[in-house]
Amino acid sequence: MNLSDLDRGITGCRACPRLVAWREEVARTKRAAFADWTYWGRPVPGFGPADSPLLIIGLAPAAHGANRTGRMFTGDRSGDVLYEALYDVGLASQPTAVSADDGLELYGVRITSPVRCAPPANKPTPEERDTCRSWLVDELTLLRPTLKAAIVLGGFGWQAALPAFAAAGWAVPRPRPVFGHGVRVPLDGLDLFGCFHVSQRNTFTGKLTPAMLRDVLRTAAGSAGL
Ligand code: SF4
Repeated sequence: MNLSDLDRGITGCRACPRLVAWREEVARTKRAAFADWTYWGRPVPGFGPADSPLLIIGLAPAAHGANRTGRMFTGDRSGDVLYEALYDVGLASQPTAVSADDGLELYGVRITSPVRCAPPANKPTPEERDTCRSWLVDELTLLRPTLKAAIVLGGFGWQAALPAFAAAGWAVPRPRPVFGHGVRVPLDGLDLFGCFHVSQRNTFTGKLTPAMLRDVLRTAAGSAGL
C-alpha cells in the first residue's frame, strides 16, 4: 500500500455513523456564502508530499472548510492562519488556501488529522477518535522512512497522536508526555512538538500569536532538516 491507496481508502470510509450523517448533511444544506459550491462531504485525506520529513497533525476538518473543499485546513480561518505562517517560513508556495485546485504546494511538510470527518461543534467523541486512529497509524507507517519531526496542534490531537505514533512503531515514553505549547518530545529518530491549535478561539484571543506559531514551525522545520 502507498499513500495514494491509503488516501483512497480514507475518502470512502463510513465507519462513524454520527460523523457520516453530519458531514453529508452539512454538504447538502451548505452555508449561504458557499451556496454555489459542491461540497466534498467525505473524509479528508492528508495533504502534502509523500516523502515529507515534517508532519503537522490537526484535529478534524471544519464543516465549511475542509469538508467543503476536500483539502486539509483549506477554506477556513484556521487554515488562513496556518498557511500564511507556512508560507512565511518557506514551507508553502503561497500564503492562501481556498480550494483543492488553487495551485498550493507544500515543501517537505504534510498536513493530516486524527479524525478525518467534520464533527458537530468541532468535537469528535473519544470513540470516533479511536475509530479513526487506524488511518493515522497507516499514514505514519508510510511516512516513517522520511519523517523526522511532527507538530501536533492542540491537546485533542496530542491525545490522539501519541497512541498512533506508538502503534506505528515509535517508542513513546511512559507516562505519556503532557501536551503544552512549545513542548518538544524526542521519540526515536523523530522530534514531536506541541503547538496550540490555530483555531480562532486561540488566535483571536492572543493565546496563539503569529510569532508563537512561526517559532514552532521554524524549530520543527530545523529539526526535520528543512
Ligand atoms: Fe471513517 Fe475516520 Fe470518518 Fe470515522 S472519522 S467515518 S473512521 S474517516
